[in-house]
Amino acid sequence: MKQFTTIRETREYLAGKAEKGYSIGFVPTMGALHEGHISLVNRSKTENMLTVCSIFVNPTQFNNKEDLEKYPRTLARDAKLLRASGCDVLFAPTAAEMYPEGETEGIDLEFGLLDKVMEGKFRPGHFKGVATIVNKLFAVVNPTRAYFGKKDFQQLAIIRHMVNSLKLPVAIIACETVREPDGLAMSSRNMRLTIAERSQAPEIYQVLSKMKEKAGKMPVKALKEWAMKKIQETPDLRIEYLEIGDRETLVPLENWSHKERGMVFAAVFLGDVRLIDNIELFL
Ligand code: AMP
Repeated sequence: MKQFTTIRETREYLAGKAEKGYSIGFVPTMGALHEGHISLVNRSKTENMLTVCSIFVNPTQFNNKEDLEKYPRTLARDAKLLRASGCDVLFAPTAAEMYPEGETEGIDLEFGLLDKVMEGKFRPGHFKGVATIVNKLFAVVNPTRAYFGKKDFQQLAIIRHMVNSLKLPVAIIACETVREPDGLAMSSRNMRLTIAERSQAPEIYQVLSKMKEKAGKMPVKALKEWAMKKIQETPDLRIEYLEIGDRETLVPLENWSHKERGMVFAAVFLGDVRLIDNIELFL
């Protein structure tokens, strides 16, 4: 596996491969890799001649300074995992490399409702930071296909929207959420949970799964209230939001008339660790 820290050497290497007709699959990450990330790498490997992973803890997408400081950084271990999974190129730049003009720069795109609800509402500036860094990374890697997890479903919607708006020549591939055996969605933040918090964390997915059984059989509002009450009964879980929304537009559902598009999205705190999850209610 080639490992680069500068844009210049990454570009040069990949441009050489592209000239030879290689298709390039790209997996952008913030590191502290787990099986969820590796599933994206594996998928890319089956569909492309070359797979590139980036590791960059992007400062501009953190609205909370403490969250940025505490974000796990495990580059040596990550590189080992990527090598073992057969990744071809790791690009792990510094913040100065990605933001030479300073961290205030960013692209301003119109996302309509997509960046105003849920994550957008509770993490102001987050999606501007995401769009900015993904756009920059696409410019460096020039991928044929880029792989994103449904775990961050709203992020996926933002990236698709950006690619459409800017007419970027890349196919966006959505990958299923990989979970621990007890249902907890894998996340780099899980390693920050205490033992007591970790034992309560699977309740999030359990409640979402029960919502799937109940969906369509009771009014949307009642289902939402049931789920919020259920999560709040677990001592250390604190809900930031729980929404039932349309999978395309993210608009909250009022009733079940377009139920096949219904998804539930939740953000829940355990101590100071914030976890998100979502599931499709009818698929
Ligand atoms: P992150 O490093 O958390 O920014 O995530 C990098 C990419 O991995 C994003 O596209 C995420 O949606 C994806 N990802 C994170 N966790 C999972 C998971 N449990 N299953 C599938 N994809 C994931």
